[in-house]
Amino acid sequence: MRAAVIEPDGSLSVRGIDDPTPGPRDLVLRVTGCGVCGSDVAARGAMPAGTVMGHELAGEVVAAGAEVAGTWADGSRAAVLPVFACLNCDACRTGHVAHCTNAALVGLGGGHGGFAEYVRVSADLAFPLPDSVPDAHGPLVEPFAVGLHVARAAEIVGGDRVLVIGAGAVGLTTATWARQMGAGSIVVSDPAPARRTTAETFEVDATHDPGAGPVEGSFDVVVDCAGKPGLLDVASAAASTHGRIVIAGVCYEPDTYVPLVPMLKELSLRFAIYYQPGEFQTVVDAFASGAVDPALLLTRTAPLSELEALLTRPHPDDLKVVVDPTL
Ligand SMILES: [Zn+2]
Ligand SMILES: [Zn+2]
Repeated sequence: MRAAVIEPDGSLSVRGIDDPTPGPRDLVLRVTGCGVCGSDVAARGAMPAGTVMGHELAGEVVAAGAEVAGTWADGSRAAVLPVFACLNCDACRTGHVAHCTNAALVGLGGGHGGFAEYVRVSADLAFPLPDSVPDAHGPLVEPFAVGLHVARAAEIVGGDRVLVIGAGAVGLTTATWARQMGAGSIVVSDPAPARRTTAETFEVDATHDPGAGPVEGSFDVVVDCAGKPGLLDVASAAASTHGRIVIAGVCYEPDTYVPLVPMLKELSLRFAIYYQPGEFQTVVDAFASGAVDPALLLTRTAPLSELEALLTRPHPDDLKVVVDPTL
């Protein structure tokens, strides 16, 4: 099959590799689309030679392992929680499969990912796509599951005033779920004008340019989806008394903050990453019912040959580019 493979010199080449074969509880999917993620850009340099990346994927079943062939007919379509997990440890039994002690992350070093014609995935973590969900929306289940997990970590309830820092895919999917959970108002803050314009298409109440000064008002929930040093202080200043802060932006740098402000407000601070199987099902159901329109997230579709450019020079205004390996 054709796949985008990381070579020993770190470059990416689209070339032939062996087709995957399913284990007893695996599926092999013909990839119908695989989204490019900020974590692909960040993690690429750490991936060993031979890796095929891509974890925001959906596809059509072309082979099923012996134990799951009865439930997965050839041609059925699925979105995938991109993990191989034991399903038996404490983390797995409580639904936190990405925290499995033996978790292998598909496309991030734990098995070839979706930037290929075919991919092997766990049937136990594959979610059937109803006919009402088109192929183009399948790869968007994963990023919307990220946002749902963040919004749930924030314990958003009806009427909450919500500030989302960062108008990327995580921020705007989080804002989408905040709306679904009944948030009273949603403000999205981002320094990039084009990203603020995109945010307005997501039915947020207002956007804010942090370059123009601190955001006005105080917020029951502040979600950091940008991952920059200094944002904990920004979030603490914006939060109301007894507010909740969720850190969902990936930050590799040390950060300092002044503990007095969150203390005086008795703020709660949580961190959020990944998702749970139930959240994937909730996303699929919301796509199918029309409660959530995933098309808002999709910037464009690109061929495999463009992946190198998408990973080395990601355009800051791209919300979500999906690679279609058939192009
Ligand atoms: Zn991702
Ligand atoms: Zn486990």
